[in-house]
Amino acid sequence: MTGTERHRQHPGHGTRRLCPPWCVTGHGVHLGEEDWVHVGEPLTVAPGVVARLGMSVDPGTGAVDGPYVLVGGTECTLAQAAALGAALVELARTGAGPTRP
Ligand SMILES: [Zn+2]
Repeated sequence: MTGTERHRQHPGHGTRRLCPPWCVTGHGVHLGEEDWVHVGEPLTVAPGVVARLGMSVDPGTGAVDGPYVLVGGTECTLAQAAALGAALVELARTGAGPTRP
């Protein structure tokens, strides 16, 4: 390491140094691959349905999977999540438009 790490150095929690800024995972609870997963704050999109950022980083190889967005049990790319958000906005605009007489 070069000493230029930007955030969250927690000695004893090797996974922490690999955390993206949005990670809220309490690392060190799980072992192995389970502990490589970084997860962001949940965003409630509907009752019982949350969306959150996720990403996994292999601390050995540095191999990265993500970031992606989990919506309910579905994994979306960032582009898919953005498209979903835009589609919802469009849907709301349509509903807010003029109604037929
Ligand atoms: Zn993390």
